[in-house]
Amino acid sequence: MKISKKVILLGHFGVGKTSLVKRFVVQKFSEEYQTTIGVKIDKKEVVIGDHHLTMILWDIEGGKSQQHLPPSYFAGAHGIIYVFDLTRPATWEAIDTELQYFTDRLPAATLRIVGNKRDLVDELQMHDFRERYRGHWDYLSSAKTGENVEELFMALGLGMLS
Ligand code: GDP
Ligand code: MG
Repeated sequence: MKISKKVILLGHFGVGKTSLVKRFVVQKFSEEYQTTIGVKIDKKEVVIGDHHLTMILWDIEGGKSQQHLPPSYFAGAHGIIYVFDLTRPATWEAIDTELQYFTDRLPAATLRIVGNKRDLVDELQMHDFRERYRGHWDYLSSAKTGENVEELFMALGLGMLS
Protein backbone atom coordinates (compact mmCIF):
# COMPACT_ATOMS: atom_id res chain seq x y z
CA MET A 1 0.00 0.00 0.00
CA LYS A 2 1.25 3.46 -0.88
CA ILE A 3 0.90 6.17 1.68
CA SER A 4 2.51 9.52 2.38
CA LYS A 5 3.01 11.40 5.61
CA LYS A 6 4.23 14.87 6.42
CA VAL A 7 7.07 15.21 8.90
CA ILE A 8 8.30 18.49 10.38
CA LEU A 9 11.73 19.09 11.84
CA LEU A 10 11.99 21.40 14.82
CA GLY A 11 14.79 22.64 17.03
CA HIS A 12 17.16 25.53 17.47
CA PHE A 13 19.33 27.06 14.80
CA GLY A 14 22.39 24.95 13.94
CA VAL A 15 21.47 21.74 15.77
CA GLY A 16 21.65 19.68 12.58
CA LYS A 17 18.11 19.49 11.20
CA THR A 18 19.16 20.10 7.60
CA SER A 19 22.13 17.75 8.02
CA LEU A 20 19.99 14.91 9.37
CA VAL A 21 17.59 15.19 6.44
CA LYS A 22 20.50 15.29 4.00
CA ARG A 23 22.12 12.23 5.60
CA PHE A 24 18.84 10.32 5.46
CA VAL A 25 17.82 11.35 1.94
CA VAL A 26 21.13 11.45 0.03
CA GLN A 27 23.60 9.81 2.49
CA LYS A 28 25.81 12.87 2.52
CA PHE A 29 27.22 15.28 5.08
CA SER A 30 28.68 18.74 4.67
CA GLU A 31 30.65 20.78 7.23
CA GLU A 32 29.52 23.98 5.62
CA TYR A 33 26.59 25.69 7.12
CA GLN A 34 23.80 26.23 4.64
CA THR A 35 21.20 28.47 6.10
CA THR A 36 17.71 27.22 5.61
CA ILE A 37 15.49 30.10 4.67
CA GLY A 38 11.84 29.51 5.32
CA VAL A 39 11.22 25.87 4.54
CA LYS A 40 12.75 23.18 2.35
CA ILE A 41 10.79 20.09 1.42
CA ASP A 42 12.44 16.74 0.71
CA LYS A 43 10.89 13.35 0.08
CA LYS A 44 12.03 9.83 0.73
CA GLU A 45 10.20 6.57 0.23
CA VAL A 46 10.80 3.78 2.70
CA VAL A 47 9.37 0.29 2.84
CA ILE A 48 7.94 -0.73 6.19
CA GLY A 49 6.21 -4.09 6.16
CA ASP A 50 3.56 -3.94 3.42
CA HIS A 51 3.71 -0.17 3.24
CA HIS A 52 5.52 2.04 0.80
CA LEU A 53 5.70 5.13 2.90
CA THR A 54 6.71 8.44 1.36
CA MET A 55 7.97 10.76 4.04
CA ILE A 56 7.56 14.40 3.11
CA LEU A 57 10.16 16.13 5.20
CA TRP A 58 9.63 19.79 6.02
CA ASP A 59 12.88 21.29 7.16
CA ILE A 60 11.94 24.41 9.00
CA GLU A 61 14.24 27.29 9.72
CA GLY A 62 15.46 27.22 13.32
CA GLY A 63 15.73 30.04 15.78
CA LYS A 64 13.51 31.69 18.30
CA SER A 65 10.93 32.65 15.71
CA GLN A 66 9.62 29.06 15.83
CA GLN A 67 6.47 30.13 17.59
CA HIS A 68 5.74 32.54 14.78
CA LEU A 69 5.80 30.00 11.98
CA PRO A 70 2.85 30.23 9.62
CA PRO A 71 0.34 27.50 10.54
CA SER A 72 0.75 26.00 7.06
CA TYR A 73 4.23 24.82 8.09
CA PHE A 74 2.94 22.40 10.65
CA ALA A 75 -0.65 21.91 9.47
CA GLY A 76 -1.38 18.27 8.74
CA ALA A 77 1.94 16.95 10.05
CA HIS A 78 1.88 13.31 11.12
CA GLY A 79 5.37 13.31 12.53
CA ILE A 80 7.62 15.66 14.49
CA ILE A 81 11.37 15.31 14.86
CA TYR A 82 12.70 17.62 17.54
CA VAL A 83 16.46 17.98 17.28
CA PHE A 84 18.81 19.34 19.92
CA ASP A 85 22.58 19.68 19.95
CA LEU A 86 24.41 17.56 22.55
CA THR A 87 27.21 20.16 22.70
CA ARG A 88 24.90 23.11 23.48
CA PRO A 89 22.78 22.94 26.67
CA ALA A 90 20.71 25.94 25.53
CA THR A 91 19.24 23.75 22.79
CA TRP A 92 17.84 21.18 25.22
CA GLU A 93 16.98 23.18 28.32
CA ALA A 94 13.51 24.30 27.24
CA ILE A 95 12.35 21.42 25.05
CA ASP A 96 9.08 20.82 26.89
CA THR A 97 8.02 24.45 26.65
CA GLU A 98 9.08 24.76 23.03
CA LEU A 99 7.36 21.55 22.04
CA GLN A 100 4.11 22.27 23.78
CA TYR A 101 3.01 24.80 21.20
CA PHE A 102 3.29 22.11 18.51
CA THR A 103 1.99 19.12 20.46
CA ASP A 104 -1.07 21.19 21.44
CA ARG A 105 -1.78 21.76 17.75
CA LEU A 106 -0.79 18.29 16.59
CA PRO A 107 -1.97 16.04 19.40
CA ALA A 108 -1.99 12.91 17.23
CA ALA A 109 1.44 13.36 15.68
CA THR A 110 4.24 10.89 16.37
CA LEU A 111 7.11 12.64 18.13
CA ARG A 112 10.77 11.66 18.26
CA ILE A 113 13.34 13.69 20.19
CA VAL A 114 16.94 13.39 19.08
CA GLY A 115 20.22 14.63 20.52
CA ASN A 116 22.52 15.22 17.56
CA LYS A 117 26.31 15.67 17.08
CA ARG A 118 27.10 12.57 19.12
CA ASP A 119 30.47 12.40 17.33
CA LEU A 120 31.58 15.62 19.06
CA VAL A 121 30.84 14.45 22.59
CA ASP A 122 33.18 12.26 24.64
CA GLU A 123 32.19 9.95 27.49
CA LEU A 124 32.74 12.61 30.15
CA GLN A 125 30.49 15.09 28.38
CA MET A 126 27.91 12.35 27.85
CA HIS A 127 27.97 11.69 31.57
CA ASP A 128 27.43 15.39 32.25
CA PHE A 129 24.59 15.47 29.73
CA ARG A 130 22.85 12.51 31.34
CA GLU A 131 23.13 14.16 34.76
CA ARG A 132 21.79 17.51 33.63
CA TYR A 133 19.18 16.67 31.06
CA ARG A 134 15.72 16.49 32.53
CA GLY A 135 13.25 14.87 30.21
CA HIS A 136 13.41 12.14 27.64
CA TRP A 137 15.08 11.61 24.34
CA ASP A 138 14.62 8.83 21.83
CA TYR A 139 17.91 8.82 19.94
CA LEU A 140 21.42 10.20 20.09
CA SER A 141 22.58 10.68 16.53
CA SER A 142 25.32 12.01 14.32
CA ALA A 143 24.51 13.39 10.90
CA LYS A 144 28.26 13.34 10.31
CA THR A 145 28.91 9.63 10.88
CA GLY A 146 25.34 8.54 10.17
CA GLU A 147 24.96 6.99 13.62
CA ASN A 148 21.27 6.34 14.40
CA VAL A 149 19.99 8.46 11.51
CA GLU A 150 18.29 5.65 9.59
CA GLU A 151 17.03 4.23 12.92
CA LEU A 152 15.50 7.58 13.86
CA PHE A 153 13.57 8.05 10.62
CA MET A 154 12.48 4.41 10.39
CA ALA A 155 11.19 4.45 13.97
CA LEU A 156 9.28 7.62 13.20
CA GLY A 157 7.86 5.99 10.07
CA LEU A 158 6.75 2.95 12.04
CA GLY A 159 5.19 5.18 14.68
CA MET A 160 3.24 7.15 12.07
CA LEU A 161 1.85 3.96 10.53
CA SER A 162 0.56 2.50 13.77
P1 GDP B 1 20.15 23.36 11.24
O1 GDP B 1 20.23 24.84 11.40
O2 GDP B 1 19.47 22.73 12.44
O3 GDP B 1 19.54 22.93 9.95
O4 GDP B 1 21.66 22.80 11.29
P2 GDP B 1 22.59 22.28 10.09
O5 GDP B 1 22.15 20.95 9.62
O6 GDP B 1 22.69 23.33 9.05
O7 GDP B 1 23.98 22.09 10.85
C1 GDP B 1 24.64 23.16 11.50
C2 GDP B 1 26.13 22.90 11.54
O8 GDP B 1 26.40 21.76 12.34
C3 GDP B 1 26.75 22.61 10.16
O9 GDP B 1 28.03 23.19 10.13
C4 GDP B 1 26.85 21.10 10.12
O10 GDP B 1 27.94 20.66 9.33
C5 GDP B 1 27.09 20.76 11.59
N1 GDP B 1 26.54 19.45 11.98
C6 GDP B 1 25.26 19.01 11.82
N2 GDP B 1 25.12 17.77 12.32
C7 GDP B 1 26.33 17.40 12.81
C8 GDP B 1 26.83 16.22 13.47
O11 GDP B 1 26.13 15.24 13.72
N3 GDP B 1 28.15 16.23 13.81
C9 GDP B 1 28.97 17.30 13.56
N4 GDP B 1 30.25 17.18 13.93
N5 GDP B 1 28.53 18.42 12.97
C10 GDP B 1 27.23 18.48 12.61
MG1 MG C 1 18.67 24.11 8.51
